[in-house]
Amino acid sequence: MRDEHGRDIRYLRLSVTDRCNCRCVYCMPEDGVPMLSHADILSFEEMRGIVAAAASVGVRKVRLTGGEPLARRGIAELVGMVADVPGIDEVDMTTNATLLAPMAAGLRAAGLTRLNVSLDTLDAARYAAITRRGALADALAGLEAARAAGFANTKINCVLIGGVNDDELRPLAELARDRAITVRFIELMRMGECAGWPKGRFVSADEVLSAVPELEPVGGQGVSELYHAPGWQGDVGLIRPMTHRFCGSCDRIRVTADGRLKPCLHSSAEISLRGLSGRELVKAMRAGIAAKPRGHRMDAVRASDSLRAMNEIGG
Ligand code: SAM
Ligand code: SF4
Repeated sequence: MRDEHGRDIRYLRLSVTDRCNCRCVYCMPEDGVPMLSHADILSFEEMRGIVAAAASVGVRKVRLTGGEPLARRGIAELVGMVADVPGIDEVDMTTNATLLAPMAAGLRAAGLTRLNVSLDTLDAARYAAITRRGALADALAGLEAARAAGFANTKINCVLIGGVNDDELRPLAELARDRAITVRFIELMRMGECAGWPKGRFVSADEVLSAVPELEPVGGQGVSELYHAPGWQGDVGLIRPMTHRFCGSCDRIRVTADGRLKPCLHSSAEISLRGLSGRELVKAMRAGIAAKPRGHRMDAVRASDSLRAMNEIGG
């Protein structure tokens, strides 16, 4: 279905939990946040219904996110349920991968198509400091298990944090030198935990091009600008919500773990899907797509208008 600004909406990001085994400094407070109760979280059946309604209005790709999707019990079963919805061609997941190693093969067998793995540093002490609870070795083991399980086109998502990991841009980008993966650098967005952080923490993705000058632009892929360095197997992507608006190519809607449709990541507008089924659910889905704003109003000094933290929405 096309929204009112002519964008064809084919992609649903579904947050399957607000819980997480990590506490990344830019995403969640150290002590965690008040968690939704079990009853507030969508059941697998409700999620299947929402995905089916989305598919009926043209959504073809679903990304499971969170919180940490692998922390939701029975996640492989949910993957299978979503993959079986008629019209859905692709089921992807964004994960910190620290719980992935023992689950990778099961997820693949259940029908998961692709993985995006969040990895902000290759330094174990830094990884522990950024995630507060995660271990780099577990994330790397997860990546390796994904490769062994047959996952292809894995993407690494690395959030740029000035003064924290911006001295590591080259080694992080070089993960794509000998592997057929895409390493994507994401500008830190002013929301939730980091809304009030000093300006120096918000680094432009241009820094990546300075650190790896041999990168050459090779086009766009959704919200990501792709670059390639001669002789490298994989690509490098830049996602720049802060310095370049990509709202014109935004093709997605989001549903939170408690069943609220968010037409835009950075807007406070939400439509509750809870308790709806059949035609009512499809109608609400259409209303959500129609309500997508032309663009967000966030820039380098102004924070997101979203009232929710990233662990509730899923990025
Ligand atoms: N727990 C999973 C993970 O970390 O991959 C999925 C959920 S997490 C909220 C999704 C993505 O949002 C991660 O790649 C994370 O780094 C990113 N993220 C969280 N807060 C952010 C912020 N303020 N700016 C940019 N990206 C952010
Ligand atoms: Fe958890 Fe992902 Fe947020 Fe880190 S970014 S605290 S892994 S939800």
